[in-house]
Amino acid sequence: MESWMKAIVLVPGTTTLQVADRVEPSVVESDDVKLQVLQVGICGTDREEAAGGRAAPPPGKSDLVIGHEMLGRVVETGASVASVRRGDLAVFTVRRGCDHCPACAINRSDMCYTGDYADRGIRHRDGYQTEFVVDSEAYLVPVPSSIASIGVLTEPMSIAEKAIDEAVQIQVGRLPDAGDAGGWLRDKNVLVAGLGPIGLLAAVALRLRGANVHGLDVVDAGTIRPSILEQLGGTYVDGRQVNPHALAEHFPEIELIFEATGVAQLEFDLLAALGANGVYVLTGIAGGDRPVTIDGSSLMKALVLRNQVTVGSVNASHKHFALAVADLEAGKRAWGSALDQFITHRLPYTEFAEALSHHPPDEIKTILEWSAL
Ligand SMILES: [Zn+2]
Ligand SMILES: [Zn+2]
Repeated sequence: MESWMKAIVLVPGTTTLQVADRVEPSVVESDDVKLQVLQVGICGTDREEAAGGRAAPPPGKSDLVIGHEMLGRVVETGASVASVRRGDLAVFTVRRGCDHCPACAINRSDMCYTGDYADRGIRHRDGYQTEFVVDSEAYLVPVPSSIASIGVLTEPMSIAEKAIDEAVQIQVGRLPDAGDAGGWLRDKNVLVAGLGPIGLLAAVALRLRGANVHGLDVVDAGTIRPSILEQLGGTYVDGRQVNPHALAEHFPEIELIFEATGVAQLEFDLLAALGANGVYVLTGIAGGDRPVTIDGSSLMKALVLRNQVTVGSVNASHKHFALAVADLEAGKRAWGSALDQFITHRLPYTEFAEALSHHPPDEIKTILEWSAL
């Protein structure tokens, strides 16, 4: 007999969003894992979906269960599952590969060539804002109970991990003095632009690797985001006090820029702060149609004459999720209370409309709670 569960369901392309009954999924394959969902984080992607923006239902369906930043508890496993047992905490990754490109063939759907992938909770596959989910062990990442309180940050942390990993791999591959990837960030001057959850989580990963982190945002010093950055040992610069054309004067020679603002004009202006041989990694998705003014030829000239690299980064592989868990654990050991401050707003799932429509100024991460930790 079928059991029913609650889920937050969206008709993509509309603002029709409600709690609906769905059939509770079961373990069918030997590598299936069933998780009881505990918490699901909300981000800009969810808010864009809920506002009628970018989202797509599973094939043949008209609605989509939203949510992609989850933390769950194992309630049942198939016979061949070895990495977790009942009661363990774990998360599922987000992307499912296209099955017909070389990246997806080696479980790197984050680098899919065709665009025919699915993203759980976003595009062509139901997500995690529900009571139970089942998926293959291949997409499962165990979370130790020591970071139960921040395990829901694993997915956004994985985004930061991939972007940093890409930047480091590029530099180690081309700089004659780079040394090994593991040590490259030590004492490097890194600019993190945008101190939302992704920027602040990047600061955690960067500080753990010994980088000097300079954080840029447009909020008052002493408020929560600059305060967390400073607890991590970073330095804050208020972007409102800085002429964008004179950014470079406010920082030492920057060797890596981690961009997480999604503001196109600023994304270009930031290039002025990048030093010789520097790498610039963009994770923010620039929204809106505001025209951007750039001096194209001097920009291209600077890239060439200063050996600079610009790279975009999206999504994350299983490896980056595992790194995210390891860094959340190390970060919690190093700066426990600072990491606990990342989750600023918690609401029961029934208050999804409030969580998706309001973006409080002191918010870093809002989560919906489905079950007690
Ligand atoms: Zn997200
Ligand atoms: Zn693919």
